[in-house]
Amino acid sequence: MKRTRNRKRKKSKFKGMMFFVIFIAVSAILGYKFFNSSNHTLTTFLGGNKTVSPTNSVDANKNTASDVQAKIDESKKEQNKTEEKKGKDTAEIDKVKEENEKKEAAKKEQVENNKNKEEKKKNEAVKNENSEGDKIAYLTFDDGPSYKITPQILDILKEKNIKATFFVIGSMAGENPGLLKREKNEGHVIANHTYSHDYKKIYSSTSNFINDLKKGENVVTSIIGEYNSKLIRFPGGSFGRTAYKNAVTNAGYHYVDWNALNGDAEAPYVRKEKLIARLKETAAGQKTLYILMHDAPGKQSTVEALPEIIEYLKAQGYEFRTLQ
Ligand SMILES: [Zn+2]
Repeated sequence: MKRTRNRKRKKSKFKGMMFFVIFIAVSAILGYKFFNSSNHTLTTFLGGNKTVSPTNSVDANKNTASDVQAKIDESKKEQNKTEEKKGKDTAEIDKVKEENEKKEAAKKEQVENNKNKEEKKKNEAVKNENSEGDKIAYLTFDDGPSYKITPQILDILKEKNIKATFFVIGSMAGENPGLLKREKNEGHVIANHTYSHDYKKIYSSTSNFINDLKKGENVVTSIIGEYNSKLIRFPGGSFGRTAYKNAVTNAGYHYVDWNALNGDAEAPYVRKEKLIARLKETAAGQKTLYILMHDAPGKQSTVEALPEIIEYLKAQGYEFRTLQ
């Protein structure tokens, strides 16, 4: 019994030894394998022969190279992008510059335009001032032509190189056709002052007045041809003659009164000095003067006063014009 028990103990001891030896051997093999593996990762170790083959290594290198290349490419791309961006930025800057330049040019142009406008305005203002400042005198002589007075007046006007307007009476023109012609030839304006100048007759009715105008027009036309027959002056003026004014206007005439005079009709004879004084007095403060005078018989002082009146008006800055 004892022997059996010892044998069993020996067998068990032997089994234990064997187990231990196998364990050590297996551990040694596994340990070797582990430390010789080129890839010390747990995955490779567990996967056995899954070592990196040379081909794979080249591929890996290739991969690495292509990665690098890709990176380079990417970098280049990035660079290109940057370049492009730079270019774009430069273009953008150029554009902005150009726009700014354009704006600047537009501004300059605007300033220039404004300057020109200002200049124009100034000029216009000066022009307006000039036109506003224009002083015009219309010398008008009524009731001629007369044999003695009219030639003297024409002489003075010729000497002074001034044109005047003659409101002629048809009957007088018929008596002095030569003087009428001279007036016309010397560039003066001849206008209509009725044929008869007979207040009782012409102001008895508007139709009488129109007929008298037409008679005067016919006489004058027969002597000098066409003239300013539609330009008329009422004997004694248009003042208070509303019906006559309407009648002549409807018949196609236009009338001109006066706003200054020498007073030569205010008495049968008025001294030269008084005529000049009257002219100055009535003309005062007016830019446009319609001056009433007469070249009727007996108006010698009108002739005498005329040169001085002309000089006075010139000195006052008046220009002489004729009515139309
Ligand atoms: Zn008259």
